[in-house]
Amino acid sequence: MFDSIKKILAGSEEDNATQYGEKPDIIREKSAALYEKAKSYFPGGVNSPVRAFKSVYGTPLFIEKGDGCYLWDADGNKFVDFCASWGPLILGHNHPKVREKVVEVMQNGMSFGAPTALENELAELIISNNQYIQKIRFTSSGTEAVMSALRLARGVTGRDKIIKFEGCYHGHSDSLLVKAGSGLVTFGETSSAGIPKSFAAETIVVPLNDRDAVTKAFEQFKNEIAAVIIEPIPANNGLLLQDKEYLEFLREITRSNSALLIFDEVISGFRVGFEGASGYYGIQPDIITYGKIIGGGLPVGAYASSGEIMSHISPEGGVYQAGTLSGNPVAMAAGIAQLTELLKSGFYKELNAKTAEFAESIQRYASAKNYKLKVFQIGSIFWISFTDKDKIQSADDVDAAGMEKFKVLHRELLNRGIYFGPSGYEVGFISSEHNKTELEKVKRSIFEALDIVFKKA
Ligand SMILES: *Cc1c(COP(=O)(O)O)cnc(C)c1O
Repeated sequence: MFDSIKKILAGSEEDNATQYGEKPDIIREKSAALYEKAKSYFPGGVNSPVRAFKSVYGTPLFIEKGDGCYLWDADGNKFVDFCASWGPLILGHNHPKVREKVVEVMQNGMSFGAPTALENELAELIISNNQYIQKIRFTSSGTEAVMSALRLARGVTGRDKIIKFEGCYHGHSDSLLVKAGSGLVTFGETSSAGIPKSFAAETIVVPLNDRDAVTKAFEQFKNEIAAVIIEPIPANNGLLLQDKEYLEFLREITRSNSALLIFDEVISGFRVGFEGASGYYGIQPDIITYGKIIGGGLPVGAYASSGEIMSHISPEGGVYQAGTLSGNPVAMAAGIAQLTELLKSGFYKELNAKTAEFAESIQRYASAKNYKLKVFQIGSIFWISFTDKDKIQSADDVDAAGMEKFKVLHRELLNRGIYFGPSGYEVGFISSEHNKTELEKVKRSIFEALDIVFKKA
């Protein structure tokens, strides 16, 4: 065995302390060996950074298979999964309906670079059940969808600047990897190397839940702002639930300044209901972006709007956007199968009620024990935050010190067969396959793990 693997397996002495009643760490021998190998192929050993487990203990787990609400890693450890591939798997892993449809469609080939009836079928399923959109374009990722939506907004308005919010994530395109600048400057600073300052200068970053900041930006850049983009349910920096009135304010101020309102619903779309956050709050944005759930676990994104706005997209209009694998038949098949299940009566009601109950009982336990902890929840999304604030509505409100507690919680949960996304800033997802018996067991394990987290503090 490599020395470095041994080190990872052994952890530091502090990591392995058992005096608080921790369970012994799970075996990660095979995962550790695979990770060593992966490091020779991929930067940091991964194809997406958060997977490297940098904010939690131990080597990243290499997953071998998933079924229903369960995951198995390369060492044969079994977990109840709350990461759900970061959101897409609202029906759990390997749902028979999705798998069967994908296998059926695959028999006829994988990709044609020409239109297929499957694209019509998925589009019809979406548009005829969503009153907020009339036309759609499929892409292959959420990043691509959002990047294209911004180009569309700029093309339609003939303006260059956009307003985004600190604490919202919109994928990794240049214009959006921008964070709040220092001091009174409203221009953003790039949050990644390799992004020209001139790009960042077109992005104005303001805090969430702050009307003044948005009003001032519109005053300062009169007739220059193409769009305001927001995750209407911000779920990439914890769960920063906004007031409905704030979203309505954004609708008003964009309209009165002839700018467009973009709802980035890559997470919230088909998650809090079939019509996503737009339907949840009853607000009509100008452009909506989708991803994650829309592809049933395969790579699909989309942006959608009115027929008028979408007519600006090539080949109808002058805004160019294309994709070799856009509308890929196998990916469309997965989307069709998954969304068909979501439209069944009572689907969301049951899923959301199950999640609310789960979140409430963790909250009750923590409150009874006077633990500084809040569980935020909407639809089938939840976020455990180590805070005593009743509301967390902006990135600044997030208690960074709580992330150390999350680290301990994460390890204790893995050791009890529960898989959370490997960062305290990530939300959890519940799927239709998380049955009540399993959730009861998970709750008891969470209680146990919390006792350890707070004993240590
Ligand atoms: C995940 C996500 C994206 C990026 O989607 P990818 O498919 O990872 O490119 C964009 N916006 C939001 C709100 C997301 O959650």
